[in-house]
Amino acid sequence: MTSTQTQLARFRALLSKEGLKLTSQRKVIADVFFTGAKHQSLLELLEQAKVKQKSIGYATVYRTMRLLTEGGLAVEHKFGENQARYEPVHDGEHHDHLICLDCGAIVEFEDPMIEQRQDRMAADRGFEVVSHRHEVYVRCLPGQCRRDAAAS
Ligand SMILES: [Zn+2]
Ligand SMILES: [Zn+2]
Repeated sequence: MTSTQTQLARFRALLSKEGLKLTSQRKVIADVFFTGAKHQSLLELLEQAKVKQKSIGYATVYRTMRLLTEGGLAVEHKFGENQARYEPVHDGEHHDHLICLDCGAIVEFEDPMIEQRQDRMAADRGFEVVSHRHEVYVRCLPGQCRRDAAAS
C-alpha cells in the first residue's frame, strides 16, 4: 500500500469509530489533504476540494480537518498567522519549520544536533522531552526569496 492508501485506510477506521461514513465529500477532502501541498489552510483545501466536487462547503472541510486532527492523522500549525495550516502525520517522522515573514515560504528541517541538545537541556533540568515544536521565523536572504523564485 502507498502511504496515501494507508492514510485513507486510517481515516476510514477513524470515521467508523465515530459512526461516520466515508462520503464522497470526505474522501475528496482527505485526498486533497494527503496528496496535495503540505501546510495548507482550510481555504486552500476548500479551493482544491471544490475543483473535484463543487458542492463541498467550508463547514465540511472544517469538520473533516478537525476529525483528522483529533484522530492524530493531521497536525495543526498556527505559524504566526490567524489561520491554521494542516499537514499529514507520518508515524515516527519528525521535523520542524522555518517560516519566512516576507514571502510566507514554509521550509521543513531536521537537525539532530538541535534535537540532542534539547533532550540534554531538558534532562539537565530534570525533565524528559515528550514533544516539541520549533517555528523559526526568518527572512529569505537578498536575491534568494522563494516568492521571486516562484514568479520567475
Ligand atoms: Zn521569503
Ligand atoms: Zn511540515
